[in-house]
Amino acid sequence: MKTYSGTRVFEGYALGKIAVYSAKKVEKTAGKGKEKEFARFEKAREETVSALEQSFLETLAKLGEKEAQLFETHKLMAQDLDFEDAVKGELENDVSAEYAVMAAGDNLAMIFAQMDDEYMKARVNDVKEVASRIVSFLGEEEGGFVLKEPSIILCDDLPSSELMKLDKEMILGIVFAKGSPNSHVSILTRMMEIPSLCGIEGLEVTPSLQGSFAILDASKGDFIVSPESKTVTAYSKKKDEYEKNKAKLQAYKGKPTLTKDGKSVQIYNNIASSFEVENALRNDAEGIGLFRSEFIYLEAKDYPSEEEQFEHYKRVVEAMGEKQVIIRTLDIGADKKIDYFDLPEEENPALGFRSIRICKARPEIFAAQLQALYRASAYGNLAVMVPMIISESEIKWIHEMAKLARENLAARKLPFNKDMKIGIMVETPAAAIMSDVFAKRVDFFSIGTNDLSQYTLAIDRVNPNLASSFNPHHRAICRLIKLATENAHAAGIPIGICGELARDEKLLPFFLKIGVDELSVSPAYTLSLRAQIATIDTKDVDVDSFIS
Ligand code: PEP
Ligand code: MG
Repeated sequence: MKTYSGTRVFEGYALGKIAVYSAKKVEKTAGKGKEKEFARFEKAREETVSALEQSFLETLAKLGEKEAQLFETHKLMAQDLDFEDAVKGELENDVSAEYAVMAAGDNLAMIFAQMDDEYMKARVNDVKEVASRIVSFLGEEEGGFVLKEPSIILCDDLPSSELMKLDKEMILGIVFAKGSPNSHVSILTRMMEIPSLCGIEGLEVTPSLQGSFAILDASKGDFIVSPESKTVTAYSKKKDEYEKNKAKLQAYKGKPTLTKDGKSVQIYNNIASSFEVENALRNDAEGIGLFRSEFIYLEAKDYPSEEEQFEHYKRVVEAMGEKQVIIRTLDIGADKKIDYFDLPEEENPALGFRSIRICKARPEIFAAQLQALYRASAYGNLAVMVPMIISESEIKWIHEMAKLARENLAARKLPFNKDMKIGIMVETPAAAIMSDVFAKRVDFFSIGTNDLSQYTLAIDRVNPNLASSFNPHHRAICRLIKLATENAHAAGIPIGICGELARDEKLLPFFLKIGVDELSVSPAYTLSLRAQIATIDTKDVDVDSFIS
């Protein structure tokens, strides 16, 4: 038995045999004559094109044009006449169509790799993927990658086209030994709700693993190969419970979130990438309460342009339709470092140069982000919030920057919502204590309990040695939450909670009793939180027991 750990792509459990996928290695073999081989190539290409057209339509319907575009690009590559000529050239050597296609693909990829144009360089993998896709249709008689029984697919990476071709009923789970959670195939995996992990440390994908029994715990991030029988028994139980629970929770889809005594509250979701909006929708979130926009910066090699950011924000806003989307402006520094920002080394990074402080020092970065956000506001119900606020002067500066962003877009004749709501995070004791004043200057509050706890208790949230002292139920924190909620309501603005405490079972009755308007949690917790809220009668809640 060996346990590996990796990064979650989509949660859930799978128990079953491993099916190893490795990109097909094509040997140089003789063909049955160039005409016959060319005819085989043409037929396989036709099948490839029609499969890509299906994938295009399916992805377009589920994820939108930007995601679907990849399939259109692949289709054009498969139909490209230069590619066809290259295949013909290879066939002159009396090789098989499989070999000719792979060799033509490799040669084109090499040419692309040497080009100065970044766009063409990025097409290297696409050309290779198109070539393997055609080869997989050529190989069908001899058996391409098919699953003969329900299996956990183990691969270094899997072309998305290959995934689309498989019978979904046969896929128990997927383990991408390499890959990233934001790759195209990962997005598709989430869309198909297949338990999956990627980036597995120390796992080598070898044919010897074919047929071995394995357990995939994608909720925790574990992949267990050749487990002991008692582990299998324990995991079958876990899986059953998980499935039963999940099925039960479906009853809460499409229902309003109400306490037992009929008080209404909204459940929003926290997301870190525009692709995760699918999860929020699938789990019936009533809005997005925190889109951590810094992940766009973290994944980029250089400052993302206004245009790039706009695409991400628009995607989320459009997908959510009338539902509110709260995007948080850049929050880097402290435990989130980005090389190209060239941030100074600091003695106390959590108390140092982060979030709004960086934006104030580098207003061009904040300006580009605000312009992108205002542009996206024309496509749905977008609100923006700014983290780490401690003073009125910061709020004043944000409003000035927002005005400049509006003027910039008006001059460029671009559409935007001039009334887009601007809120702040209450995640410093200063913001909570001054919340009566701040509430009159902004449209909404959202409490970041992760930082509010760290700064109130003066305990580093990422220091493992202090984890046991990090008591998020501390009455000081509850008092600040209550104070901010009362001040928000006195000023007539809504208040949400987007830190991890938003799904804290113990504090939930307290949040509901004091009238927090919205709780924002990871998509996977939406329905269970709704179910839990339905069991709470706020008439029975004693607020004093949480604060004194
Ligand atoms: C928080 O501080 O509670 C919060 C939601 O923000 P982050 O965890 O991203 O700092
Ligand atoms: Mg925070």
